[in-house]
Amino acid sequence: MEKSPYANLRRIILVSMILVPLATFILILGIGYYYFTTSLESSTIATMKRIVEDHRQMICSFLQNREANLEFVLDSYPFEELADPEGLHHILLNLQKESSTFVDLGLFNEEGIHLNYQGPYKLVGRDYAKALWFKEVMKKGQYISDIFLGKRRIPHFIIALKREEAGKTWVIRSTIDTYMFNDLVKKIRIGKTGEAYLINVDGIFQTERRSGGNLMDKDPEVIERPLSHTGIKTYIEKDSRGDEYLYATTWLKNKSWLLVVRQEKADAFRFLRAAAYIIVLITILGGGAIVGIAFVLTGRIIRRMERLDAEREELGGQLIRASRLAELGEMATGFAHEINNPLQVMKSEHALIDSILSELKEKGDLHPSESLSELEESIDQIDLQISRCAVITQSILKFGRQSEPVVEDIALQEYIPEITSMVEKKASVHGIALRQEVSEDTPPVHGDRGQLQQVLLNFYNNAIDAIIARHGAKGGELVVGARAKEDGRVEIFVRDNGSGISPEDRKKIFSPFFTTKPVGKGTGLGLSVCYGIINKMGGIMEVDSEKGVGTTFNVILPAAK
Ligand code: ADP
Repeated sequence: MEKSPYANLRRIILVSMILVPLATFILILGIGYYYFTTSLESSTIATMKRIVEDHRQMICSFLQNREANLEFVLDSYPFEELADPEGLHHILLNLQKESSTFVDLGLFNEEGIHLNYQGPYKLVGRDYAKALWFKEVMKKGQYISDIFLGKRRIPHFIIALKREEAGKTWVIRSTIDTYMFNDLVKKIRIGKTGEAYLINVDGIFQTERRSGGNLMDKDPEVIERPLSHTGIKTYIEKDSRGDEYLYATTWLKNKSWLLVVRQEKADAFRFLRAAAYIIVLITILGGGAIVGIAFVLTGRIIRRMERLDAEREELGGQLIRASRLAELGEMATGFAHEINNPLQVMKSEHALIDSILSELKEKGDLHPSESLSELEESIDQIDLQISRCAVITQSILKFGRQSEPVVEDIALQEYIPEITSMVEKKASVHGIALRQEVSEDTPPVHGDRGQLQQVLLNFYNNAIDAIIARHGAKGGELVVGARAKEDGRVEIFVRDNGSGISPEDRKKIFSPFFTTKPVGKGTGLGLSVCYGIINKMGGIMEVDSEKGVGTTFNVILPAAK
């Protein structure tokens, strides 16, 4: 394939038309995506933190309230009343009115002996001096245990408080059922996979975990839980199954339990993924549109440039032809003048020979003989040839003269029939059907009547010659017409069904002296003269022909204003 001279330019336009908007587009999209995802990410984490904070508050206030209930018991009832089984029974009932989570209530002396107990077990008299909880409460005045299942296999924990008054020390202890905050924590639901649970310092579940994990079991996840850490910690970590989770953890205030809220990363950031898909889709569609438009536009620009180039080339060709015609015109005129003079001399010499010969014949100095008649024939031939030369030089002079035309408005509806009538006779002699198709709405043209006549007659004569060459004296068809073109100009056409012109000849017919006619018939100047005339009138001349089918000559002229 031939390489277009615009291949390089095409590549440059295409690349810049794609790269510049595409880079801007991707940059804007990238920045937008970055800010969007960052804000989405921080809002997801903020939501998680808020949930952690809210639930920490709830659990802490639950524990505080239970502690305050027991504190109230210590403040309101003296040791004696607590030691009385009936009194303790009432106190437990009152506590259970405050919160149904109180399971039992017991009183202990400073030696750790269970003095009084109200609840589902028989514990009075037991010695707890060595129990961890007792040691702790005696040391710190207050103790909250981790959660344990106990004999009844029900999850619970204990709160114990110490009171010292008038040199006497006693301790009360209550068991708290944890179903309430087990539910409270377990019910937390975020997205599809978000859940919450409590673990103690050793990583033992203090509440059940929805995704699997029983109370008192060891949490299989590796959760960093330095006791020193305050506030809410968020991080992403793989769980024991290898799935990535977003974690938010915090220690409770009044107990060393860690509240863990976690959600599968893919679930937590699902909007981010949706946003990424949309961005990819927009990039593909937008990028595709940019590339597509760039291709279409570049194609159009290059095609247009190629067309302009072709037009320029054509114009250049026309200019060269026109200037060559002008040059030739000048040359030919000079040449014709030069020939004309000797021709005139030859003509008068011929006339002289002719008259001398007649004189001699009259006087009887010349007797008719074969030689004489041959001589006379030769002299006639010289006359004929001189006349032919004169016709040629006249044509050349006409071609070269290119005198300024006398322009006027010509109404083609009358003008064309007028000119056509001049060849009617000739056409009918050769059996040619002559048709005229001048549209009524054809506007007048602006031109020189005589010159236009010369053009039309030249067309007719050429057409008739071509028809005779193809059909002889039958079957010829010659159509002349005129009509308004869409662009406001006027088109005159002469169509024949003659021998047609071969493509090679078509390139040459407007050149002076090109003829396919036999010697003596054509000069080859007709069309080149016509070309010059139409050019001068501001019009163009075109030919459309097919060998063996026919020829159409078109003349396009500006319409008269
Ligand atoms: P000439 O008529 O003296 O040959 P032209 O310049 O008028 O000179 O024409 C040049 C040539 O163009 C002709 O010799 C002929 O070959 C060709 N030609 C012109 N008109 C026609 C036509 N209507 N059909 C076929 N050939 C044509």
